[in-house]
Amino acid sequence: MSPTKSGSPADSGMGGAAGPALEVRGLAKSFGTNQVLRGIDLTVPRGKVVALIGPSGSGKTTVLRSLNGLETPDAGTVTVGASGVSGLPALTVDFSDAGVPKKAHSRQVAELRDRSAMVFQHYNLFPHMTVLQNVIEGPVQVQKRPRAEAVADAEALLARVGLADKRDVYPFELSGGQQQRVGIVRALALKPQLLLFDEPTSALDPELVDDVLAVIKELADEGWTMVIVTHELAFARQTADEVVFMAGGVVVERGPAAQVLRNPREERTQAFVRRLL
Ligand code: ADP
Repeated sequence: MSPTKSGSPADSGMGGAAGPALEVRGLAKSFGTNQVLRGIDLTVPRGKVVALIGPSGSGKTTVLRSLNGLETPDAGTVTVGASGVSGLPALTVDFSDAGVPKKAHSRQVAELRDRSAMVFQHYNLFPHMTVLQNVIEGPVQVQKRPRAEAVADAEALLARVGLADKRDVYPFELSGGQQQRVGIVRALALKPQLLLFDEPTSALDPELVDDVLAVIKELADEGWTMVIVTHELAFARQTADEVVFMAGGVVVERGPAAQVLRNPREERTQAFVRRLL
């Protein structure tokens, strides 16, 4: 799963790919009268890992879902940087009413969605499809890639996470940890610029957590750009370059993982970290 082979956008020195991989400015979102995001800014440099931590309900998942087109923010901009590997220019989506015609706006949101891939807390595999079918569904049906190529990629990725022999089984025949590794492979198969993880291990039995975290750590080491919502602070400390602590829909504190987790400046971060570490 080296970046260039698997389509990771780390873009080591290739043209047209200067600047951060992801830039979020002023992201705001309400559900009815509940203002969930109150102006979130986030910058993820190319090839870096940002962990989003914070109490339940602070808006972390809503941030991720907004990056993947699963929620529509009320305001703010999201920019995904250019990719030298896939030859894509930078893309900015402005969610405020900035006068972009509706059709063009939907096209931009669809493109934003295509540039990232999400790994869900509950895996979200299709239960009626085999492992292989789950993995090739997006590449073949959505991205219109040749089936044989998608199958070859899927087989290589499954082998890398130790699941080559599970290609033709159904999700219910797998452990939670195996299902989540399929979830990760399914995301990688889309060759996204950004990998988004939404509490990828919180539904797993404790003995299955480490295998999944090891796969994510390996991807980080290979230069994938990732945003990870997690409660696993020890994992965040080992894997993330930067930790962002959110509470009540705002970013309370951000900084290098070791600093935020070991020596937080803000009282709210201190209380949160003390409880979890
Ligand atoms: P976190 O990931 O930090 O736990 P979430 O982003 O999941 O936080 O949720 C933030 C707030 O938004 C919570 O109060 C939650 O109930 C609310 N919320 C999230 N999704 C929806 C939705 N689809 N409809 C209504 N409220 C929602």
